[in-house]
Amino acid sequence: MADVDDLVDGIAAGRRAAVSRAITLVESSRPEHRAEARHLLARLTAPGEPTVRVGISGLPGVGKSTFIEALGGRLTAAGHRVGVLAVDPSSSRTGGSVLGDKTRMPDLAVDQHAFIRPSPSAGTLGGVARATSQAMLVLEAASYDVVLVETVGVGQSEITVAGMVDTFLFLTLARTGDQLQGIKRGILEIADVIAVNKADGEHEAEARVAARELAGALRMVHGKAAWAPPVVTCSGLTGAGVDEVWGEVLAHRDRLGVAGLADRRAHQQLDFAWALVRDELEQRLRRSAPVRAVREQVREQVLRGELPAVEAADRILAAYDEA
Ligand code: GDP
Repeated sequence: MADVDDLVDGIAAGRRAAVSRAITLVESSRPEHRAEARHLLARLTAPGEPTVRVGISGLPGVGKSTFIEALGGRLTAAGHRVGVLAVDPSSSRTGGSVLGDKTRMPDLAVDQHAFIRPSPSAGTLGGVARATSQAMLVLEAASYDVVLVETVGVGQSEITVAGMVDTFLFLTLARTGDQLQGIKRGILEIADVIAVNKADGEHEAEARVAARELAGALRMVHGKAAWAPPVVTCSGLTGAGVDEVWGEVLAHRDRLGVAGLADRRAHQQLDFAWALVRDELEQRLRRSAPVRAVREQVREQVLRGELPAVEAADRILAAYDEA
């Protein structure tokens, strides 16, 4: 595996081409590539200090890429090496809004101390999450000490991202009624830091009011005695408050402490292992020839009301076990 040896050396030296090729390898779902990826990951040197892994989520248009551009630039100017990854199983490279798109972060894209990788466009959420978490290990071995994982604030993907980062930052807006929807969707329960974005110009005062209301609502959700995530305001566009948001992210990490962080990451690994197993089982179920053979018949009988759901499930499972 001379190729893998080259990649390991290139990554250790922080060479961008090697990092890029390694990420392409871990994104591949071909069995031979997966074996090679495992071999590669086993040989990478983990950083001495745990990196800072931060998830950044929010609805489309909330200003994620503008914010990451502002934050990333500040971090590289302060001497950090910043990796930006994205989790968006619905993304398509031909579509308009691709997460982690370099054209949406023009300055960071040409910053020598930053590495931006758009979301893999194909595959299930589980597959994308596998690729992203392995890409994170590649970046960390290449001495990127801050990894930002961008995701859209809809659906299941932010839960997945929360499971692979140390701190989960949720961006929201003042005027959309978004904060209440957020509570409903449970996003606010996984958020460690919340920022009301676009707090600039005529909307600044409004954003501050929204942040105060949201902080109040969160104290209700979390209960009086419990800790509630901080709510701050910022503007990715002007850069105002971006340092404060980062300060809250680091404060959250400090609160976890060394042992707390290690424990969080260990539990994430266990949860992730099971998530990957469930994903793989679903793929196998979909591909199973005996299941395919009974699928149509079961479908028709259930739709005609001739077969109860419970029996239908038993028949599908029996077909699967035959394989
Ligand atoms: P994303 O879809 O969440 O990545 O959002 P973008 O970063 O692409 O921003 C969506 C739109 O909001 C763009 O037109 C931005 O110029 C604008 N925008 C982003 N951040 C800010 C901000 O802090 N203040 C204001 N006023 N506009 C912003």
